[in-house]
Amino acid sequence: MTVSRHSPDRGPSLGPALGPSQDIVTRFAPSPTGLLHLGHAHSALVSARLAEAAGGRFLLRLEDIDVGRCRPEFETAILEDLAWLGLSWPAPVWRQSARMAAYRAALDRLEAMGLLYPCFCTRKDIQAEIAASPSAPHGPDGPLYPGTCRALDPAERADRIAAGHPHALRLDVAAALARMPGPLLWHDRAAGEQTARPALFGDVVLARKDIPTSYHLAVTVDDAAQGVTLVTRGQDLFAATHVHRLLQALLDLPVPAYHHHGLLTDEAGRRLAKRDNARALRTLREAGASPAEARAMAGVPDGNPRTA
Ligand code: GLU
Repeated sequence: MTVSRHSPDRGPSLGPALGPSQDIVTRFAPSPTGLLHLGHAHSALVSARLAEAAGGRFLLRLEDIDVGRCRPEFETAILEDLAWLGLSWPAPVWRQSARMAAYRAALDRLEAMGLLYPCFCTRKDIQAEIAASPSAPHGPDGPLYPGTCRALDPAERADRIAAGHPHALRLDVAAALARMPGPLLWHDRAAGEQTARPALFGDVVLARKDIPTSYHLAVTVDDAAQGVTLVTRGQDLFAATHVHRLLQALLDLPVPAYHHHGLLTDEAGRRLAKRDNARALRTLREAGASPAEARAMAGVPDGNPRTA
């Protein structure tokens, strides 16, 4: 198992930026949609070690907004597997499913600023619109939303909502950026100072049709509400931070530091996935691996405060 990285290796040092005086709070925020594998173990251990080395706190948060995909048995397995791995965290564990009122309050605030619009498009509508314009701009997740519903007139919007047409809420990113007095910065411990490019994903969905929030909104609101000062997560979520930085500015939230760690890959260089049960912590455990062996396989061996 290897840890891949897109940014230069700064080695095993924890770096001078962190110290107990800064009250480091890190977190691991899995979604209970499957069993944890070695990649999750890597993420959780990096996060816990960073907190430990700085005399700070490590939190666990269950990101269970997607009720259709989350399962109580995966939640139980997450808690058991992390404890087996040797991790501990303060109770109570935050569950995003219990935080809908906080997300609603954030949406209300953005709505009052005139920065949200209802989007009635189906996936098919969006695909058709994109197919019709060959130069559609792309973001990290593929083609950007073409903005169809941004231009709907208010009466039409009101009619559709009154008629009960399902809709998501999107952020009008251009309007949001126009309110910013200057560039938005954030700091990544590996990649250094970043200037946010929140338009990267286009007009992101902040409340889904089926769920009254979204990943971007919930994670930003909760990291602030839990006092997280160092967001630790995989490099696959690096680009999302550009959007989160804009949401922090719009919602007057504190700006944490970030540590986007390298991703664990298999022998063929592929990222580990939840469906890859061979690398599930549970499977390793049942096959007789010890927690210390699992920590080493996850790229965070004992006695080496590795923060890859
Ligand atoms: N819940 C997300 C996941 O399981 C991680 C969110 C984050 O760390 O920002 O991929």
